[in-house]
Amino acid sequence: MTFRLIDTHCHFEPGDDAPALLADAAAAGVGVLAVGGSPALNATAAASGTWFAHGLDWSAEGAPGPLPGDPRLVAVGELGFDFHRKGPETADAQRALFEAQAAQARARGLPVIVHTREADDLTLSALRAAALPRAGVIHSFTGGLALARACLDLGYFISFSGILTFRNAGALREVARHVPADRLLVETDSPYLAPVPHRGARNRPALVAATAACLAGLRGLRPEALAELTTANAARLFGLS
Ligand SMILES: [Zn+2]
Repeated sequence: MTFRLIDTHCHFEPGDDAPALLADAAAAGVGVLAVGGSPALNATAAASGTWFAHGLDWSAEGAPGPLPGDPRLVAVGELGFDFHRKGPETADAQRALFEAQAAQARARGLPVIVHTREADDLTLSALRAAALPRAGVIHSFTGGLALARACLDLGYFISFSGILTFRNAGALREVARHVPADRLLVETDSPYLAPVPHRGARNRPALVAATAACLAGLRGLRPEALAELTTANAARLFGLS
């Protein structure tokens, strides 16, 4: 099955009807990468029936478990760094958890899906030290142009969520104009962050089309051309087939 767009970052929460959400997405031409980040989200992602990622995010404590041996596992994540919701005293723990998972990604030849919020220095230093051969993606990017450029230099893709469509996101839209075409991805991060004009609604993978349309407009591309290039990028980064 070929998809017009790929939602490269969706979470299925316990109790969600993943088959119905995937069917709704497929009807809109949208393929889905289901992303973990906690034991509960890892379980729903693996059980959803689509491509998935397995990992522990910045809020987790302890060591990551082994990666599942499933051919639909296409990435490690989400993982990463957050000093918006965690204090600076957690820096070493956040870094250690990242390093343990970067080692798993390297051993399995997988890319990583990175969350970073108010943690530019730690993120760059950890990504640099990990030097992962397949790099990965900075998901739901909200940083500045300097962070974007540094991540691009390290081989990472940049993924934009519905935040790109928010009224107060002018600086982010400027960043989105500067990302090379071969490193752009789109995502929903559903069930959160529904794009305009769906704000306030529960987000779902099919709504990635609104973010893609916004991105196409910013870059002076037809929606079809933007869809084609972001889908090709997702297929290349995650080895989707
Ligand atoms: Zn997420």
